[in-house]
Amino acid sequence: MPNNTDRDHLGLLYDIGELSLLIRESTDIPNLLERTAKVISQHLNAEVCSIYLHDQETGELVLKATQGLNPASIEKVRMAVGSGLVGATLESLEPVLVGDAPQDPRFKYFAETGEGPFRSFLAVPIQRGEVRTGVLVVQHSTPDYFAFPDVRTLRAVASQVAGVLENVRLLMSLRQRDGVAETALKSEPGFVKGRAASPGFAFGDAVVFDRSHVRLLETEDAPLATEADFHDAVAATARQLDQLQERFTERLPESASLIFSAHLMMLKDAQFTRRIVAKIHAGTAVSQAVREVARDYIRLFGESPHRYLREKAKDIEDLTGRILKNLAGQSWDDQGLYQGRVVIAQALYPSEILKFASEKVAGIVLTSGGVTSHVAILARTLGIPLIIAGQAALLAIAQDTPILMDGELGNVYIQPDRDIIERFSDRERERRVAADHAGAMQPETFTGDGVRVILRANINLLSEASIAGELKAEGIGLYRTEFPFLIRSTFPGEEEEFRIYRRLCADLPGRLLTFRTLDIAGEKVPAYWDIAGEPNPQLGLRSIRFSLRHPEQFRQQIRAILRAGADTPQLRIMFPMISSLDEFYQARAFVDESREALEREGLPHHPSPSLGVMVEVPAVVEIIEELAEAADFLSIGTNDFVQYLLGVDRTNDQVAYAYRPEHPSVLRTLQRIADAAGKAGKEVSVCGEMAADLDLMPFLVGIGIPALSVDPHHLPELQSRINALTFTEAKAYAARLLAEATLAGTQAVIRSGVRP
Ligand code: PEP
Ligand code: MG
Repeated sequence: MPNNTDRDHLGLLYDIGELSLLIRESTDIPNLLERTAKVISQHLNAEVCSIYLHDQETGELVLKATQGLNPASIEKVRMAVGSGLVGATLESLEPVLVGDAPQDPRFKYFAETGEGPFRSFLAVPIQRGEVRTGVLVVQHSTPDYFAFPDVRTLRAVASQVAGVLENVRLLMSLRQRDGVAETALKSEPGFVKGRAASPGFAFGDAVVFDRSHVRLLETEDAPLATEADFHDAVAATARQLDQLQERFTERLPESASLIFSAHLMMLKDAQFTRRIVAKIHAGTAVSQAVREVARDYIRLFGESPHRYLREKAKDIEDLTGRILKNLAGQSWDDQGLYQGRVVIAQALYPSEILKFASEKVAGIVLTSGGVTSHVAILARTLGIPLIIAGQAALLAIAQDTPILMDGELGNVYIQPDRDIIERFSDRERERRVAADHAGAMQPETFTGDGVRVILRANINLLSEASIAGELKAEGIGLYRTEFPFLIRSTFPGEEEEFRIYRRLCADLPGRLLTFRTLDIAGEKVPAYWDIAGEPNPQLGLRSIRFSLRHPEQFRQQIRAILRAGADTPQLRIMFPMISSLDEFYQARAFVDESREALEREGLPHHPSPSLGVMVEVPAVVEIIEELAEAADFLSIGTNDFVQYLLGVDRTNDQVAYAYRPEHPSVLRTLQRIADAAGKAGKEVSVCGEMAADLDLMPFLVGIGIPALSVDPHHLPELQSRINALTFTEAKAYAARLLAEATLAGTQAVIRSGVRP
């Protein structure tokens, strides 16, 4: 009986755990399967490792990759489910371990594989939920070579690779279809792997958003239209836009009269209509006159050195499209150009995302950007599936090509077949049902051994406040106040800010509310603010630097918060990107000054909000003890903290692999911050995405972070995970992670889990 010390189970699980690396390094799908088989055969010291996938159309299991068998038999060896040892494995959904396969009555010999010499046989099923994906097989010439530990490991491997192989299976079924997908996207036929930035499933026709303003020219003509028809069409368009604006305002109160303001202004611009009418009088057909004048405007705006004016060109295109549709007697309703479509773009401004939301776009695929970028955050807020796929070739996709987006896995399917669409529709239905059941949260959260962890919500727009409330968040841990700024066409004034903030306070009475002051620049640049020329905006005039450079703006915001929070008992203000004590003192002085001014003016306001520092710039770690003394609370913005500590741009997909919250330096620094806060008796929370990372949350709890703030939809699962965890376990897990000095080490601890 061979011992199995020649097998490296841990190494196998480790390497398979690095699936993303395996995928990245593979040249194509057959190569990915081959590499997977190779990794398994090497670590289990198996002479053969083969991957069979289940073809649901023919009902057969097909050999797709092998190490050790004759490669010419790939795709040729096929068997029905239930037939042979491999078929028996998928039928029973249980591992099949046989010491001497040729002696087994179920054994079926395939001469073309050259499997004659192999005696030991171990197969495990690969399944994803209810779906039977395929079978993983290892073989060896020594009888009784494999034993129970191999079974356990191979099962673990099968569950790790199941998701990827299921996608491969779907993809292969997609490829078999007439090669249609191949022609749709030259470089990567049928399927593009991207990164999930906002969850959800979307299926719709592609529209490539390229700011080239040509679509309006494609609308139908109205050859018999008269001048009176033109005026009617303008009036109908104005009415439709008003209605659309109204409906959208209910959903996003901050956007009041903003999204379509440019459209409505144009309609009100007498010059625009006068020029069209003049052309009609001169004998130009009505639709043509509209197009010609619109084109002039689009060109003018498009050539502007100011970005916000260039953006307006898109609005004119959209408006003109609406007028032309009305002229042709076609109904626009509230559809716009993008309803139900999958928009593909190189990059988008937040205002454009809003516009798409207003038109009920199905989903968005971007070819640049990062998943923690604010465009991604906004898409999550608005519930629009978003995938970031760094493939410029996507921009060359033919208009109207059917696209399916899997926003959970970051997969983009081009021209998917019915089978794939149905599978995803089912999954989306399940996801919604799960979300509907999220209401069962308790108002407070405790670990299994009774340690309290405060769960709060991060929100960006007012529409999320009610969701946070329903989900029983213990207040708002981060309100990104820049979002109302980002989606507007001008800076809001104090009164407007006051109105927005007061509404938030009214929506969540009695709860703790944390207003983070304006954090613009970097990747969050409002369209109306031309900062072209900042060579490195992530290191530029960002966040608190911006506020301190624009004191009027900052003062207005602080006053608006203090006034809005007059009746909010637990009002907190925190400053982003603080890099020194001096900066914190300066920011605090604005609050003191504003409070005194409001006092003098006799305006109701909160007399003593808690003032906090966002820990995002690693420079503050060396002065964290003093900062913890000076501030009322600390909140760690890990999205930026990881970016700056590791020197990795959080918005750059090219370096996303190096953006590692589990980096030992990140973990150890977080512990230092938690300790400093604890010593000063001040609360410290984490409000970056790391707080919702289920592998890292126990670490945060274990180092004594008492409060986490996450996107509202994460709350139910986070609570149940915390309930299932003991503080003792979390502490031990944190200690194991902190003992590691390499990424490989921390990742191995994470893989082994809280209970290794
Ligand atoms: C962070 O940096 O972690 C954070 C919460 O702020 P934002 O994502 O808005 O930069
Ligand atoms: Mg930040």
